[in-house]
Amino acid sequence: MTGLSRIEALCIEKGMKMTGQRRVIARVLSEASDHPYVEEVYRRAVQIDPRISIATVYRTVRLFEEANILERHDFGDGRSRYEEAGDSHHDHLIDVQSGKVIEFRSSEIESLQRAIAETYGYRLIGHRLELFGVPIDDRGDGGGG
Ligand SMILES: [Zn+2]
Repeated sequence: MTGLSRIEALCIEKGMKMTGQRRVIARVLSEASDHPYVEEVYRRAVQIDPRISIATVYRTVRLFEEANILERHDFGDGRSRYEEAGDSHHDHLIDVQSGKVIEFRSSEIESLQRAIAETYGYRLIGHRLELFGVPIDDRGDGGGG
């Protein structure tokens, strides 16, 4: 097991100065797979180092974002969520009730998008696709089973 988290290693590669608090935040983000809000990153970071402030977390994720280490998403609620950048390409399905994010990849969608771009005379170099949904088996305000 290595002592460096993936994001911390990327930061070092990019010549970023890594303080103890930045390392903690980098580790939290490396371990996250749920596209956390800054507040959630903060909540996890203070469990490791209680001296970390929310302002530091905001500054640090902004710094990581500017260095293209993090990718920022706004999944329709006007609040930023983050994931490690440069992962293999995927699209997102957002559960609008719970905020849960499902990552998926569809070769049909990928080729359809390429075909659409070509129809208009373009070579596709990227896209962003977000689906919003509610669970189909949602039982509304139901109580027990
Ligand atoms: Zn994602």
